[in-house]
Amino acid sequence: MKQYKMWIGGKWTDAESGKTYPVYNPATETEIAQLPLGDKSDVNKAVEAARRAFPVWSQKSQPERSQITLKIATLLRENAAELARLDTLEHGTPAKRAAFLALDTPGWFEWAAYNARSMMGHTIPVSPETLVYLQREPVGVIAIITPWNLPLMMIFQKLAPALTLGNTCVIKPPSINSLTALKLAEILEKLELPPGTVNIITGPGSTVGEALASHPGVDMVAFTGSSETGKAIMSLSSQTVKRLQLELGGKNPAMILDDADVTQAAVAMAKQQCNNSGQICGSPGRFYIHEKVYDEFVEKFTVAMNKMVVGDPNDEKTDMGPLVSAQHRDRVEGYIKSALDEGAKVLLGGKRPTAPPMNKGYYVMPTIIADITQKMKVAREEIFGPVACFMQKFNSDEKLIEMANDNTFGLTSWVWTSDMARGMRCANKIQAGTVILGQGRGGGPEFPWGGYKESGIGKEGSLYGLYEYTNLKRVQVDLMASKK
Ligand code: NDP
Repeated sequence: MKQYKMWIGGKWTDAESGKTYPVYNPATETEIAQLPLGDKSDVNKAVEAARRAFPVWSQKSQPERSQITLKIATLLRENAAELARLDTLEHGTPAKRAAFLALDTPGWFEWAAYNARSMMGHTIPVSPETLVYLQREPVGVIAIITPWNLPLMMIFQKLAPALTLGNTCVIKPPSINSLTALKLAEILEKLELPPGTVNIITGPGSTVGEALASHPGVDMVAFTGSSETGKAIMSLSSQTVKRLQLELGGKNPAMILDDADVTQAAVAMAKQQCNNSGQICGSPGRFYIHEKVYDEFVEKFTVAMNKMVVGDPNDEKTDMGPLVSAQHRDRVEGYIKSALDEGAKVLLGGKRPTAPPMNKGYYVMPTIIADITQKMKVAREEIFGPVACFMQKFNSDEKLIEMANDNTFGLTSWVWTSDMARGMRCANKIQAGTVILGQGRGGGPEFPWGGYKESGIGKEGSLYGLYEYTNLKRVQVDLMASKK
């Protein structure tokens, strides 16, 4: 059994307590590693190390820092096969998708490296005697707290801009999926980073996460995870008024209008629903289907869901692996049961597979639940599994928008129509950070991502995402004074 260490102040270290905890392969239920069980004293050490590193790292020139983050991207790609293997092992990510992610997501470092070098300030016209200019500076020590659903990418999206722009970081990866983060530390170790520039602590949110969110030496918390945890972090960090960037949950409406290309919509949405076993914040959460195309959509979507190859994530043919843990599998099944108890019906799946090799592992088959009303639990809360929720049919765009917006989340949404003017009228009224009309090709660091309402605060990606990791300073110069 491999015993891992944490990475603090540029050194590999055990937890101060000496305790460890096990992590499991979700496809086989077998123990794969023992990790240090970090706690508050480890957080104190890491924050101190990051504070010591800050003056050194932040004072390097931007070209120098950008060169280093470009090297990170190169080293990550060189290690892509191992990162993909670990992603499949600890998370159950199907091998073909893990390979894609390991090669694609280092692009976040390239994006940050290039764009940070072009980030400009502004001047404000005042008078010939006064110059006012704005400059961006790093925020300080950033706590990066991430979820298990995309273990590496969730870290890169925050670490790449934070580090490139001169901040130092303490990363708390998800306790059950920390192996890829520790591999990242091995990669960072090969670079000329001042010790403590990046620190990685393993352990649970209830101790390590809370200690970071409340630590007076942390200037900002960059968090992705559930809205409930986001609220807890807001509360903890309020004592020292920390900067927050929060990417939280979603219950995203997928709207199929009566003039949509139903075949295309059904195939594309089924893929989205099963991507990463539905454990994606941007997965469809509520399907609103026009009454004229309802039956056709149900039929075609069912066919597409049935085509998903569910199985061993190491098999290249597999589209969908297990859920991440027994606890999460039970949670997803709990939602299916609650829908039935409240009067909805299951059209497909809803069960665990029984045939080997899936009689072991945390699998739930692609599932469709129908006849869901706005008040039901599955219409209001995020399931985070391969479970499509078909709401009651609609027959007017006005009513559709009202129902789509009747939710505490506002992350993303889809509108399927062949009339783009109609689609754009819907887009104007939808309360969400993203509206996708049709296929929604494109994504990545160039695009801003972030939610409205309880789906979060701030943006990830694009220049807006870079700005999150800077303080904006106004410098006011009396030009006449310099002449005295
Ligand atoms: P959680 O909120 O449970 O956990 C996220 C991270 O926070 C983990 O590292 C966790 O630690 C830590 N944590 C838990 N409790 C606390 C606490 N009290 N204080 C500080 N940190 C804490 O989310 P999940 O890991 O279950 O991830 C799924 C959620 O993430 C979904 O809601 C999903 O929508 C959201 N998400 C949002 C995205 C977006 O872009 N908007 C993208 C991806 C996911 P540990 O796990 O070790 O306990």
